[in-house]
Amino acid sequence: MIPGPTPVHERILETLARPTVSHQYPAFVEAYRECLTRWRRIARSETAQPFVVSGSGTFAMEMALVNLVAPGHRLLVVSHGFFGDRWEQIAQAFGVECDVLRSEWGRAVDADELAAQLDTRSYAAVTVTHVDTSTGVEAPVADYAAILNGREEHLILDGVCATAGIDERFDDWGLDVLLTGAQKALGAPPGVAILAVSPRAMKTRRSRETIAAYSGDWLRWLPIMDDPAKYFSTPPVNEILALNEAMGLVLEEGLTTRLDRHGELAARMRAGLERLGLELFTDASCRADTLSVVMHREGVDDAAFRGAMAERGVVVAGALGPIAGRAFRVGHMGNIGPAEIDRTLDAMGAALSVTT
Ligand code: PMP
Repeated sequence: MIPGPTPVHERILETLARPTVSHQYPAFVEAYRECLTRWRRIARSETAQPFVVSGSGTFAMEMALVNLVAPGHRLLVVSHGFFGDRWEQIAQAFGVECDVLRSEWGRAVDADELAAQLDTRSYAAVTVTHVDTSTGVEAPVADYAAILNGREEHLILDGVCATAGIDERFDDWGLDVLLTGAQKALGAPPGVAILAVSPRAMKTRRSRETIAAYSGDWLRWLPIMDDPAKYFSTPPVNEILALNEAMGLVLEEGLTTRLDRHGELAARMRAGLERLGLELFTDASCRADTLSVVMHREGVDDAAFRGAMAERGVVVAGALGPIAGRAFRVGHMGNIGPAEIDRTLDAMGAALSVTT
């Protein structure tokens, strides 16, 4: 029950056990094509260019930045924690100038603050982490997007801890890049970087002669995304089959039903935590439905508590940054149901009784 990788459904696991076929085998090519089409539906876009390639969420972040923002140009990062801050490090690695609007941990940057910052200067792009997995903060993306509407800044959304668990509307919000990983609310194993790119962002990439990437260059992948029978670099065959199955599950359930289920599971988890006398770290105004960041009771040893939970068969994650040791994180996303929430709460209750 860590906030990713999440439990992988049997139907998805089964695809990993299939014989690995050639990346040009017709049935695989068809599955790859289907995966790209499904991804566009999940992103809710008619026009975005999908990319599904080997890599982690971090690689997808890097790909977005290196294709869109040239060295010496300026990026505005809206950060709600550890993963927001990662954008600054990626920018530094590519010689991109960077300003950061940082919230207090556990709170969200107000949309007015973003508007005020954009009044001071222009940027090549703005990055927003939809749900920062370190703080449990869900960013008010629709409000940010409304401010950016009509402006020249590209809006890059990191959906790694949100996509397929929290509402995301590529076209309605005017996103330029939505990127995500396979291993969270999509419920697939890790290893695939997933991006949707707007026509405007593709145009920006085309306007640049060279970029500081080879295997991360959208233009090298574009022919393969148009026709997956072509070759540029061997795709992770079984991981793509797994992702396609995971996306199939998402669409079979129905996006809206799935998002509602995430809301219900989050409410069930929060109610259970309250019964146990545990408090959430994240401000009530911006709590994500995909995970909970939970404060430890006074005097509880984090490692002992999580160890006691693991002995009862439930793994939760430690906290990061300034709250490391003082809080823990529990995921409630992907292909899980009320039974997993209840079992987690039971294990928590038992762990509390031996550690307090
Ligand atoms: N963004 C967010 C919000 C994340 O939670 C993570 C990983 N937990 C990443 C980016 C990086 O993804 P990965 O670990 O797959 O590189």
